[in-house]
Amino acid sequence: MIVSGERFLADLEALGRIGWVEGEGMRRPAYSPSYDEARSFVEAKMKEAGLAVRVDGVGNLFGRLEGSDPSLPAIMSGSHLDAVPGGGKYDGPLGVMAALETARSVAERGIPLRHPFEVVGFTAEEGGEMGGTFGSRALAGLLEEPLPEEKLAAIGLTPEMVRSSRANPSKIACYLELHIEQGPFLERRGISIGIPTGIVGISRYSVRLAGEANHAGTTPMKERRDAMREAAELLSEWFAWTDSRDDLVCNVGVFSLRPGAAAIVPDRAEFTLEIRSLKDSVMDEAAGVFRAFLGKRTRAAVSMEPLVWKGAVDLSPMLQDAAEKACGEMGASCVRMPSGASHDANPMARITPTGMLFVPSMGGISHAKGEKTAPDDLVRGAEALARTVLEADRRL
Ligand SMILES: [Zn+2]
Repeated sequence: MIVSGERFLADLEALGRIGWVEGEGMRRPAYSPSYDEARSFVEAKMKEAGLAVRVDGVGNLFGRLEGSDPSLPAIMSGSHLDAVPGGGKYDGPLGVMAALETARSVAERGIPLRHPFEVVGFTAEEGGEMGGTFGSRALAGLLEEPLPEEKLAAIGLTPEMVRSSRANPSKIACYLELHIEQGPFLERRGISIGIPTGIVGISRYSVRLAGEANHAGTTPMKERRDAMREAAELLSEWFAWTDSRDDLVCNVGVFSLRPGAAAIVPDRAEFTLEIRSLKDSVMDEAAGVFRAFLGKRTRAAVSMEPLVWKGAVDLSPMLQDAAEKACGEMGASCVRMPSGASHDANPMARITPTGMLFVPSMGGISHAKGEKTAPDDLVRGAEALARTVLEADRRL
């Protein structure tokens, strides 16, 4: 073992008590007092480990260990320190604390590293005023100008602070992130480590069906232009189609009816349609299929407006190989798989070779207080990360 499992777990649990509300889960949004406390906790641990610490303009935290060749760019590893309301302890902090454990184990044991190694705790990955992966998008220079001054002021930032957080990609050799899987794939198969090959893209649409409101008691069934029924038939046809595909997932998470009364046939149904896939072309194909199904609803006027389109991201094959080798050295089972959730690795992949590692989520639960990963799996993840960093240091 390279890392100290006991120390790593103790620190991860201690960090998990900051912002934890019994019965409710985590309350640690970015730019809040509990968030600041969590960042200070990690900062102190970084200093204890002898890392050079800095915080950038938006609040991303860095701890740097120098390598033997100062001319080389840094291997960066971490994740985020903020949490969704009522979330768990490991979504984000696991990756930060495992990177920190890697840095201090490497330093303590005098393991030679050629590249500098930088631990990063990103801010505001889970969204808020500025949308998800805010900290890593600021670092990657992906935030669009003009920056919204009022929104930034609400979280104590200025456009200048955001611009100053942009990193020079030539100073970064690669980015590695350990994260909980947030799904049931690994647990169901009894596999210890997942190696994502890419992060799925997300497309969202706002869909509307407009019928005719009428008396729910006196209007004969066949004469109704019922927006709800049209939507129900449309969605059942759609989900039958999505079930036949293993290269995409789809969700209707928001649905509303108007006028919204028990005795009135609804004249309007509105919902969001979300499609995720590792292939941009599949997302577009699926949207086309949905549009065709929608076109068949002759008893309603229909519309479908795009809301979000974020392309899929490929992760570095070299880092996937490095991770697989690391798992082999440890005798840990591993499998390549897609990442269905977005992560800080997503913006990072746009500026540097990026890799990820997943550990199993018990029951596939996340973004909820019941989120849990077995201690052995947490430690195995940290060890796999450390070994992947060392392997990347040799290969880069
Ligand atoms: Zn996360």
